[in-house]
Amino acid sequence: MEIVETVAQARAITRAWRAQGQSVGLTPTMGYLHAGHASLIRRAKEENDQVVVSVFVNPTQFGPNEDLDKYPRDFARDVDLCSSLGVGLIFHPQPEAIYPPGYATYVEAPALSVNLCGRSRPTHFRGVLTVVLKLFLILEPRRAYFGLKDAQQFFILKRMVEDLCLDLVMVPCPTVREPDGLALSSRNAYLSETERRVAPLIHQALVRAEAMARAGVTQVAEIKSAMAEILERQAPLIAKDYIEFVETEGLTVVEELTRDTLVAVAAYVGKTRLIDNFLWKGLDNK
Ligand code: AMP
Repeated sequence: MEIVETVAQARAITRAWRAQGQSVGLTPTMGYLHAGHASLIRRAKEENDQVVVSVFVNPTQFGPNEDLDKYPRDFARDVDLCSSLGVGLIFHPQPEAIYPPGYATYVEAPALSVNLCGRSRPTHFRGVLTVVLKLFLILEPRRAYFGLKDAQQFFILKRMVEDLCLDLVMVPCPTVREPDGLALSSRNAYLSETERRVAPLIHQALVRAEAMARAGVTQVAEIKSAMAEILERQAPLIAKDYIEFVETEGLTVVEELTRDTLVAVAAYVGKTRLIDNFLWKGLDNK
């Protein structure tokens, strides 16, 4: 397994693989890898000759009062995990390699960034789109693997790939959870014991929503208030940021369940902001 920090090195390695006819799968991450990341890497390994994992805590996707400086990092552990999973290359750039002095170019998808996480993190998706486009241009993967845990991110990036005619396949991967339902996240490391105990309520609110939808409730307002009530059981330890229902093309808010719906929750557990969602494909599944 190779570990490189410069754009030129990363580009040379993936270019050589492609020249040998080998397909390249990419899993972009911010490191502090867990079983959710591992599931993406495994899938990439199954479907490609070579797998690249990028480990980069991307400063442009953090807002001014967010957790960039204290974002958890353990590169030695990430290297061990990647090596055990058969990764061929870790691209681990320093911020200056991606954003050298004078850097001025950004990618935006404003229409898809107004709802859900874009509302409370107005510059977040601009940072995500910019860094992921750069990774795609540097590494030129055949396929790229993203978790549906960050569903809005997946849909926005998929839109970018289509809009900019990028020649790669976006592969969505299911959310990996703890046995009690909590979605795995690097940020779970911030939780105190008490916070960790109540955090699965976010998942329970989603489970309740699904039960209501299956039972035939179609009014979003009714489902939202039942979900909010579940989170409120542990107020003020849990504080809702949003509970939203959107359709999956334009990510616009829906009031009634009629087609593919993403039901998404963001909540503060203590000071830690966690997100989770369920993706419902049509009403037939319910
Ligand atoms: P991050 O390091 O948090 O930026 O995540 C890197 C990739 O891993 C993104 O595509 C995430 O959606 C994905 N990911 C994070 N947590 C999970 C999870 N619990 N299950 C599946 N994928 C995940």
